[in-house]
Amino acid sequence: MVAEHEAKALLREAGVPVPRGVVVRGMDFGPVMDLREPLVLKAYGPGIVHKSEAGAVVLGLRRADVPAEAARMLAEVVGTEGFLIEEQASAGVELIVGLVHDPGFGPVLLAGLGGVWAETLRDTALGLCPISEGDARRMLGSLRGSPVLYGLRGRPGVDVDAVVKLLMTVGGAGGLWERLELGEFEINPVIATESGIVAVDARYLPAADAAPEAADSGEPADFGPLFEPRAVAVVGASTSRPNFGNMFLEFYKAAGVPLVAVHPEAREVGGVPAVPSLATADVDYALVAVPAERCAEVVRQAIGVPYVQVMSGGFGEAGRPELEQELVAAARAAGTRLLGPNCMGVYCPRGRQTFVGGGLGPAGTVALISQSGGLAGEVIKVGERRGLAFSRVVTVGNAADVTPAELLRWLSTDPETRAVGLYLEDPRDGRALYEALAAAPMPVVLLVGGRSAQGQRAAASHTGGLVSDGRIWQALADQTGATLVTSQDDLIGVLAFFQAHGTRTTGPYDGTAVPGDQVGAPGAASGDEPGSLRAASHGGALVIGPSGGASVLAADVFDRAGVPLGPLPDSVLGELRRLGLGAGSSLANPLEVPVGPRSGPDLVRRAVEVIVRHLPYPDVVAHVNVQSFFTYGTRAEPLFEYARALAATQDALPGIRVTLVTRNGECAPPGVEDEVRAIVAAAGIPVYRSMEAASVAVAAGGRNGTA
Ligand code: ADP
Ligand code: MG
Repeated sequence: MVAEHEAKALLREAGVPVPRGVVVRGMDFGPVMDLREPLVLKAYGPGIVHKSEAGAVVLGLRRADVPAEAARMLAEVVGTEGFLIEEQASAGVELIVGLVHDPGFGPVLLAGLGGVWAETLRDTALGLCPISEGDARRMLGSLRGSPVLYGLRGRPGVDVDAVVKLLMTVGGAGGLWERLELGEFEINPVIATESGIVAVDARYLPAADAAPEAADSGEPADFGPLFEPRAVAVVGASTSRPNFGNMFLEFYKAAGVPLVAVHPEAREVGGVPAVPSLATADVDYALVAVPAERCAEVVRQAIGVPYVQVMSGGFGEAGRPELEQELVAAARAAGTRLLGPNCMGVYCPRGRQTFVGGGLGPAGTVALISQSGGLAGEVIKVGERRGLAFSRVVTVGNAADVTPAELLRWLSTDPETRAVGLYLEDPRDGRALYEALAAAPMPVVLLVGGRSAQGQRAAASHTGGLVSDGRIWQALADQTGATLVTSQDDLIGVLAFFQAHGTRTTGPYDGTAVPGDQVGAPGAASGDEPGSLRAASHGGALVIGPSGGASVLAADVFDRAGVPLGPLPDSVLGELRRLGLGAGSSLANPLEVPVGPRSGPDLVRRAVEVIVRHLPYPDVVAHVNVQSFFTYGTRAEPLFEYARALAATQDALPGIRVTLVTRNGECAPPGVEDEVRAIVAAAGIPVYRSMEAASVAVAAGGRNGTA
């Protein structure tokens, strides 16, 4: 560990204020005469890490007290090599600012309220380096304790700009993170007051081993032939005992892509012509489904085949990393790119690529990169049922060669793809992924499995301990504008929203609450803070539908999702009353409008058109209680009429995003929901079965809107 005064020298050079102080190695305390009382005495030496715990810090000393205190420390604190005597900074708000080198994500900045706050409440925010100034402000604003920074109950706030500057000096472009061989670096605490900051403690642990190689962010491979191969080979299908290879052969036959089987003896397998070796197959893509031990041998023959997918498991994930390395080496030797191992492959209706039965769905604009083949299969099938149309789906399994980040970089340039979903389970590729996400021009939604297990890494400093949990994914999402969801259903739901509304750009508003907003934070004054409606330039989301209780609950649900429901402008109330609204209920957002078999289908449309003329709402969320249509019969026509009226609303208002929530859809006879979905889908309206699911999707849309 680097001694405190050396770590502070680094800070001073970088322009960060530190206390004036002197280092004394012997017992000559003459130099302290230049310091202003009160003084702080600290011992340093090998093994002294947490000085307070070791009795190696004394505050509030007069100059004359220093020699005696130092003598006592020398006697009592094991390993004392020398002393740092420094001026004591005035009291203020203590913050922790740290840097840690995460094995997956590289340098990560942490900021939080110091001392007991960081340790007991974990009230800290993370950012992947380099952070922007907006990131720094958002990080501070996201702390639960942030009101103490911005001023609270008559207490003045601190110099937030100085804190922001510190975060940038440590974690911004050209900051300390680029120069230190991290390791871990921690300022704990930095004391912030009204008039500035002082870093009163600094700790630096250079990395034990060399930093991992930088992210490869060069040109991605041309993945075109991966998704749209001229022809496909299947290795491992059997003539006697049908296996996975045979199953895929059948999928490919049904898809109609030119196909060849690779088999040592047979001239054909399952009606597909066979060749004895990949070396003689003229294909763009080969699927390998032979036992793990034999995969490398097969891959070595794939000379001239640009993409090989190893479906088989039994590699790194099964505790056999050497087998996986051999496979990668084989791919390199053959000059082919490897997908997997342990993955299902690729789905692309446009390219007749598939790994699911039941035929190809429609070609569309939504892409998916998944570390799980099973999940990808479900997202394809359930998603298509819900109206998704895919451009490219790719499963990566262990991602031994082709990684999610490289694929995302390619998809970012793909004219067929307008939204991307990602399902990931490990942050190995985190740094490259961060860069790819930051550069992606289209909206991205991210589902991460196993986050709760990612917090188990041991760490030497508070920063290390606090970074090592799944929250880093949220930081990644916040910094790149991606949406992080927590369920497969929301992954599909958000993709459906992007697909339906991707071209309707009306936002942006961001759900991340800035607590400072409520207390007139100086940090929130700059106008580009998330969480607030920018000077009521728009109203956020308008929720419209029947029934008091559902509307009240809707307000809570959208609030939780961070979607603002801006109040109706006063100017619109008269017109709404003339439509007959507001008689038995108040006129507010959520707006109660009768929707049911006996109310005309057009009231919602008329109300929306009136409202958005007075104040633009980027999102209109219309909800219906499907059950109410079927209490006295099974005639679905009134519900269809309502759906058509809503579709007309969307058609008439291309600048807003209409979303439909069909509550209690299980009460409809079979087929009715599908019909409703089809009616509104024609106008580009996505449908959700719960307010919760809709709120997540609308929030994601708000993150990705462009003004
Ligand atoms: P530790 O190794 O225990 O973290 P610190 O150097 O952080 O030791 O000192 C412990 C506490 O003493 C700090 O959290 C801070 O509250 C206070 N402190 C230390 N140095 C100063 C200083 N120069 N001015 C004011 N307070 C200080
Ligand atoms: Mg400290």
